[in-house]
Amino acid sequence: MDTGRTRADRMEYSRDRLPIGTLLVVRTGRSRMSDVDEPADAGGDAMAEAFTYNGGRVDPGESANIRYGISETYLGDPVRIPVTVVNGAHPGATVFLSAAAHGDELNGIEVVREVAHDWDHSELHGTLVCLPVMNVPGFLAQERYLPIYDRDLNRSFPGREGSTSARRMAHQIFTNFIEPCDLGLDFHTSTRGRTNMLHVRANMDNPEVARLAYAFSSNVIIAGEGPSGTLRREATVADVPTITIEMGEAHRFQRALIDRALTGVASVLAEFGFHRDSSVHWPGWRTVIDDDNEKTWLRADAGGIVDMKRGRGALVEEGDVICSITNPFKEEEDIVTVEAPFTGLIVGVLENPVVYPGNPLCHLVGLSPDTYTALYRERRGNGSHDRM
Ligand SMILES: [Zn+2]
Repeated sequence: MDTGRTRADRMEYSRDRLPIGTLLVVRTGRSRMSDVDEPADAGGDAMAEAFTYNGGRVDPGESANIRYGISETYLGDPVRIPVTVVNGAHPGATVFLSAAAHGDELNGIEVVREVAHDWDHSELHGTLVCLPVMNVPGFLAQERYLPIYDRDLNRSFPGREGSTSARRMAHQIFTNFIEPCDLGLDFHTSTRGRTNMLHVRANMDNPEVARLAYAFSSNVIIAGEGPSGTLRREATVADVPTITIEMGEAHRFQRALIDRALTGVASVLAEFGFHRDSSVHWPGWRTVIDDDNEKTWLRADAGGIVDMKRGRGALVEEGDVICSITNPFKEEEDIVTVEAPFTGLIVGVLENPVVYPGNPLCHLVGLSPDTYTALYRERRGNGSHDRM
């Protein structure tokens, strides 16, 4: 596909010019295509519409794999993000699924790819906009940030023309593939060296975001609007209700977490009518962590080597030992023991077992007594362990 730099490549991210040379449209050959009238005339909600972006369109009943230029390298070559648009033959909402805003966070890439390419969307109502790798320079370097001055793409949305390189890239992504959507799912993992249990982060004060968060069917939802410049916050501000899904650690494909996230996506697609014959999934138990819950990142008060006793998803009671920090000689008198300051659930935890004073050890959230008891009984009943 990649034919090198062409004039069309250079033009494809220039906002006011139309032709692009890199669009690959894959006709799906769905029989219902003949039932769809010219989508440009589709005014009512009874007719599927084309998905359009700068320089291209994907008509109802079609899928397209697109490489869309959002910047240029030092060599002047285009930086292009992969995008798959699946436009169902039936009318419906438009959802984006995005991953790797942080370039080394890989689990979400596989979630987005499987939804785009392995699932049967022959009865799809609406449109899927799949962005498996947004931070291409970070992905190539296997780094969290854009290597250019270590900018955080996920603090650069909605972006701006004429601004920094990160904001220009964010602007291209946001205007072409986020703003045209009705809702969004943005996949992340923990920062390198730590791991998260699968959970959703969502502004639960916004009813549409809350509906989306519940539909994803995670056990844990952490409420909050998110930092300024994050995709989920800025998309939500732009009337595209969006949640973040946190799952596992960087630099890995973690199959069990990917499968659970796929269950969440299927549940969302059912809730919002994309797949009419599937149903919304109930996770078995659920807790929403808001300002009323205790939550903290426990930090090391000593430098050293960490012996972590509990994994992600562990239930701990106040006073339980979470880890100990030792020096190279394992001298008894220098061992620092870290205990849970309150009863709760370990949502995130250190994986790389070395710390300076001040480094995070684990993300602990408090549970209501009812939730704690229910979860404790469930775990005792099925003999499950810490890792979730
Ligand atoms: Zn991230």
